[in-house]
Amino acid sequence: MTPQLHQRPPFRAEHLGSLLRPDQLLETKFAFEAGKIPESQLTASEDKEINAIVETQKKIGYAAMSDGEYRRHMFWGTFFPGLDGFEEVNNVDVDDFRPYAPDIAAFFGGRPQACTYINQFKYLASQVPANEVGNLKITLAAPNWYHLRYREGKAYPKSVYTNDEDYFGDIAKAYQAELQILYEAGCRNVQFDDPNLAYFCSDKFLTGFKQDPLNVYSADTMFEKYIKQYNDCFADLPADMHVGVHLCRGNFVGSRHFSEGGYDRIAIKLFQELNVHTYYLEYDTPRAGGFEPLKFLPTHKNVILGVVTSKFANLEDKEEMKKRVIDAAKFIAEGNNISLDAALNQVGVSPQCGFASHREGNAIDWDGMINKLQLVRDIANDIWPNQA
Ligand SMILES: [Zn+2]
Repeated sequence: MTPQLHQRPPFRAEHLGSLLRPDQLLETKFAFEAGKIPESQLTASEDKEINAIVETQKKIGYAAMSDGEYRRHMFWGTFFPGLDGFEEVNNVDVDDFRPYAPDIAAFFGGRPQACTYINQFKYLASQVPANEVGNLKITLAAPNWYHLRYREGKAYPKSVYTNDEDYFGDIAKAYQAELQILYEAGCRNVQFDDPNLAYFCSDKFLTGFKQDPLNVYSADTMFEKYIKQYNDCFADLPADMHVGVHLCRGNFVGSRHFSEGGYDRIAIKLFQELNVHTYYLEYDTPRAGGFEPLKFLPTHKNVILGVVTSKFANLEDKEEMKKRVIDAAKFIAEGNNISLDAALNQVGVSPQCGFASHREGNAIDWDGMINKLQLVRDIANDIWPNQA
């Protein structure tokens, strides 16, 4: 990747992709799962609600619109189960999981093949003018999603892969294929959702990792391997395709989070070795730490500051949030010896995470979500007038 600042995308006002599902849509999903209605009825309901949420985003002023992840159950969607050779495994021995990586699902590794996000993207693209398709955002699962959850040696059968490198290599090939398919469909804006990387900020996780006698690698080495895995996914990335990564500490039904800890521990590797254009960082509470680590953000990368919480309806004070954004930019300016204005040019603002990483959503109601999206837009308008 040429070290060049890639913008529009990202935009000054962003959101993280998942949006609350209307009750009607959830009821239709439950009815479909209970076998009461045909799939065509579910799809029609999803289409209708996606059209409506696209209009809502347009009205508030978001360019990087998503489909709200309305067709997904969880934020990571269907990537891994859609891969050829990946098999859903039930009744996995609980001892196979790293007990200090606290959110779990169960799959084995295999050979990559198909793109499962393409239809979601194509439908969304059909709802906007051709010149806006490149702005649309599609969120993808972190390539390390399952690997981190399993204890050493349990993420894939040894009969299929002899070591992590082979396994990661195949996952990277699957992502290369996925990105290529999306690119050919007009997609230019991808955001990887990666709560795993933020676990490496957590004392609790790091202590558990260190004490786990099965671990062959240190947490530092594991983190480096995950960065390399990402970079391998981007090996053939077209120059005009924007990729970003979102880090947070978990976002689950009822607004739960899973981990805590500032970015300080991982900042240098995260900002300087991971080949993404943009970081979408959770920054709504002290559990994400201070802005100091932004000193290490190079001048060719963007950061979208998630200073507004998507977890609760309580509305933040706009002036206070603007001040936080400026404070953050000061660290970028200091670290790179550039002006505050130049640093602000690398910055945008967003809610700290999605509103419904799980389809049942956070402890915030519809109006609460709209107010948050509007607040983010207003903060951006004040700091960067007349910029999308
Ligand atoms: Zn998140």
